[in-house]
Amino acid sequence: MSQTTATEEFTVTEFAARARSWLAANMPRLDPQHPPRNGRDDEGAWQRARELQRRLYDGGFAGICFPREYGGLGLDIRYQKAFDIESDGYEMPLILNVPTFTICCATLLDTGSEEQKRRHIHAALRGEEVLVQLLSEPSGGSDLAGLITRADRDGDSWVISGAKTWSTSAFAADYGLLLARTDSTVPKHDGLTMFLMPIDAPGVTLRRIEQVDGTNEFCEEFFDGLRLGDDAVVGEVNKGWDVASRLLFHERRAVGQGSEFASGRGPERTEMAAGDFLVLAADAGTVDDPLIQDKIGRVLARRMVRDCLVDYVGRAMRTGALPPAAGSLIRLFHSDVTFLEVDTATEVAGPLGVVDGDAQLLRVGKRYLSRQTVALGGGSNEMARNVIAERVLGLPREYAADRGVPFNQVRHNRA
Ligand SMILES: Cc1cc2nc3c(=O)[nH]c(=O)nc-3n(C[C@H](O)[C@H](O)[C@H](O)COP(=O)(O)OP(=O)(O)OC[C@H]3O[C@@H](n4cnc5c(N)ncnc54)[C@H](O)[C@@H]3O)c2cc1C
Repeated sequence: MSQTTATEEFTVTEFAARARSWLAANMPRLDPQHPPRNGRDDEGAWQRARELQRRLYDGGFAGICFPREYGGLGLDIRYQKAFDIESDGYEMPLILNVPTFTICCATLLDTGSEEQKRRHIHAALRGEEVLVQLLSEPSGGSDLAGLITRADRDGDSWVISGAKTWSTSAFAADYGLLLARTDSTVPKHDGLTMFLMPIDAPGVTLRRIEQVDGTNEFCEEFFDGLRLGDDAVVGEVNKGWDVASRLLFHERRAVGQGSEFASGRGPERTEMAAGDFLVLAADAGTVDDPLIQDKIGRVLARRMVRDCLVDYVGRAMRTGALPPAAGSLIRLFHSDVTFLEVDTATEVAGPLGVVDGDAQLLRVGKRYLSRQTVALGGGSNEMARNVIAERVLGLPREYAADRGVPFNQVRHNRA
């Protein structure tokens, strides 16, 4: 089946039925005894994801909510949700959802040139391109508009100098959305430009960062003489903040599990299935403890509230009843739910979660080590609260000494 034939008119029920039989014939079923390689720091997992994505594309089930002209199916979120239900239980290229589809392709769709959309969204849907975001810098990520990586004009090129950090999966990527300063004589938001750059270009040095839990998915990049042409500019020169704002909008929804561009159910690496909690309790010998049952029930109930909130906020943003900044509501709640889930798993496992013993519960303790990431990725919880306060509830804006001040006159790291 080609990608175009699936875009004929179908009801959601018909689409789901087609997906059901196609999945059964073409996608590998998940086997709990032999879970797939899906560690985001594992090069093999990325290769596998690209292959599975290609299968989806060839089968006509890639990019359900992306427009047809860019390789998608041009269908609405009801079709994506139906597909997600059907694909539960199959191995899916979930690691491509964040940031490739839900953040980078979604941002290109809103702000990229026709050529960028046709080329890069299409390639990503075919499994041929992985895209990442290069925003945060060693000097800090919360004040994104205060970044110091520069793009200087030199003849027909832009020459990039600076450094980025915490770039999720950049080691496995082909292209990155890079935000750089192109004019420092204007206030910080007004002198930024977004570029789409090849990760393996000359002038880029990429290093992987080892985390406390032993994984090394995050990367840092150093730019020294990287040259980009005007065709790499996304949106307009010095209007990069507009592009970044769309990117942050998509990122909040993606991190909060509310993006229509995610395909396949659930966050790919973090959420434990409901049944996994019971298996965990059985392994830890606590499954008959009513207090443990109560705690597990609390997690499952909170998740249901989260799912309702995602639906409610998603609908309200689509109809305009809530502003785009409301994506921070689901982003923040998702972090609370994940904290509760990780803490509960740690309590259920008890001391067995910190020993490499027969019960094999050390994975629970290891996961606890990365618990805090959910309160930082996609912008920190504190910044999410600021956004909700100022741009959803309309409370007064936080004081900023650099507001309206040309960036080259702002004092940096000086007494
Ligand atoms: C899982 C994960 C994935 C990530 N992926 C990417 C990625 O792909 N690309 C990328 O560019 N970056 C990525 N990041 C980086 C992330 O965007 C930053 O960690 C985040 O924006 C915070 O920046 P920082 O770590 O530099 O903290 P800082 O900005 O230095 O902040 C430190 C602390 O101060 C608080 N703070 C700062 N300013 C304020 C304020 N005005 N009001 C109240 N509190 C404040 C923050 O909340 C935080 O607790 C990722 C991070 C994680 C954890």
